[in-house]
Amino acid sequence: MLRRWVDGLPELFTDTVDKDGNLLPFDRSRIFAYAFRHTYAQRHADAGTELNTLRDLMDHKSADTTMGYFKVSMEKRRKAVETMRQHVVDRYGNPAPTPSATAYEARSVAVPFGNCKEPSNVKAGGGSCPIRFQCSGCAFYRPDPSFLPAVEDHIRALKADREMARALGTAEFVVRNFSDQIGSFQNVVTSLRRQIEVMPEEDRRHLEEASAVLRKVRAAAAPPTLPVLPVPTVPARRSTDE
Ligand code: SF4
Repeated sequence: MLRRWVDGLPELFTDTVDKDGNLLPFDRSRIFAYAFRHTYAQRHADAGTELNTLRDLMDHKSADTTMGYFKVSMEKRRKAVETMRQHVVDRYGNPAPTPSATAYEARSVAVPFGNCKEPSNVKAGGGSCPIRFQCSGCAFYRPDPSFLPAVEDHIRALKADREMARALGTAEFVVRNFSDQIGSFQNVVTSLRRQIEVMPEEDRRHLEEASAVLRKVRAAAAPPTLPVLPVPTVPARRSTDE
């Protein structure tokens, strides 16, 4: 049925153009059911899904098999960092480009919602935040577009927590803390999204590719080997049913 459907499509193009600017046709023989499984896994890896989560989703016996979806060449990684370092912002969303690719990798460390420049945390590989990852209020916080999905997820989680705090009748300062964090993370998102919106199409595509590469590198980085861009985990919000 799949074969019949694919063969029956009147036209099917890649997003690559020939020298005259015409879209090149897509090779239909490359569309088969098993390929969907690879695409599914690769999209997760590009979006930064954590290695063990993807392993479970794919039902792989060995993490080595899953690791195949996270492979990034040094050259690709270097280019991604070079692109991304120019789009770093501070906690207010003001542009704060990192002076060099080396500085991006060596003088900062990836934490869940952006890079962190706090020296003792950088030295500890990102797992030793002195103020419990309240990054949006921290002068050392340096997010960039590759962290957008993580920041947006975090905003959603903070909003859910705030509702829970209200329902539990907690002190106003608890609710206010959530609101302030939501507001400042939202400033970061708005600024990054604005930056992306005004970029020429070609640059935007490069940035998206660079984001996918860096998310993949971070997602694959896991102890005990020393990660390149390590990401510590913060405790997940507990389900309300527990
Ligand atoms: S709050 Fe975030 S940016 Fe600040 S030191 Fe901790 S991990 Fe780094």
